[in-house]
Amino acid sequence: MKVDLHMHTNCSDGIYTPEQLTAMAGEAGLSVIAISDHDTVAAYDGTHSFAAGLQVIRAIEMSSEYEGEDVHILGFYIDPVEAGLQEYCRSFKQRRLSRALEIVDKCISLGYEIDKKAIHAIVEKGGTVGRPHIARILVAQGYFPDVKSVFNQLLYRGGPAYIPYHRRTISECIAIIHQAGGVAVLAHPGLLHQALQPVLQHPFDGLEVYHPNNAGRYEEFAAIAHKKHWYISGGSDFHGVPGRFPEHVGMYSVDARQVSRLLQRKDQVNE
Ligand SMILES: [Zn+2]
Ligand SMILES: [Zn+2]
Repeated sequence: MKVDLHMHTNCSDGIYTPEQLTAMAGEAGLSVIAISDHDTVAAYDGTHSFAAGLQVIRAIEMSSEYEGEDVHILGFYIDPVEAGLQEYCRSFKQRRLSRALEIVDKCISLGYEIDKKAIHAIVEKGGTVGRPHIARILVAQGYFPDVKSVFNQLLYRGGPAYIPYHRRTISECIAIIHQAGGVAVLAHPGLLHQALQPVLQHPFDGLEVYHPNNAGRYEEFAAIAHKKHWYISGGSDFHGVPGRFPEHVGMYSVDARQVSRLLQRKDQVNE
């Protein structure tokens, strides 16, 4: 049984709607997926219908940081209408919008033309807005060949159009997930460098052992999870963005047995 417990929709920076994503997941033979959009539970706001035939675990991917490194925290089995979680998403979106507009201002001052209406339109659609959206606009306008080049030249941390933003601490994110009834899992530890050891000291419930960016280190991370008696999670981090692995749903998936404890934590929530 194939599962994928880390997928994005256009409620954050993915390409496909929750409807499209769940349909594609069913066609790809996945039995269980988790839609874990960045800092939003908009996929679970009641306006979306998921394709039948597969289980969808309600999830979120929160953005935190540790001494300059991005730290992402997955929350599984969350109650999307819980007040603290709702407040987290609302304030995150607000901060992200002001930051996006500041980045656009920087781009404009550097000579790139960007219509701010496009940024507001994304927010009005209910999503969060960030650097990938701005990068896509610049690519669409013909300034850069692809999103990666925009990041490499303009939007990287400390880059000419970069604006830092305030994020909740790791402990705050874990507490919000717990308050919403969820399980807090450290996402893609393979992307962490100096921060890995100190970040692992936080009171997570699980570790995302299986992720494309952890390749070659599955045993190392599984050993850490076992030692800490944490849940093991795994997923593709599918966004549907051309040029970013995995480009298709199902190209990277996890065997249900590898994440069985997490799957059994609670009966699935199906829409
Ligand atoms: Zn992430
Ligand atoms: Zn992700």
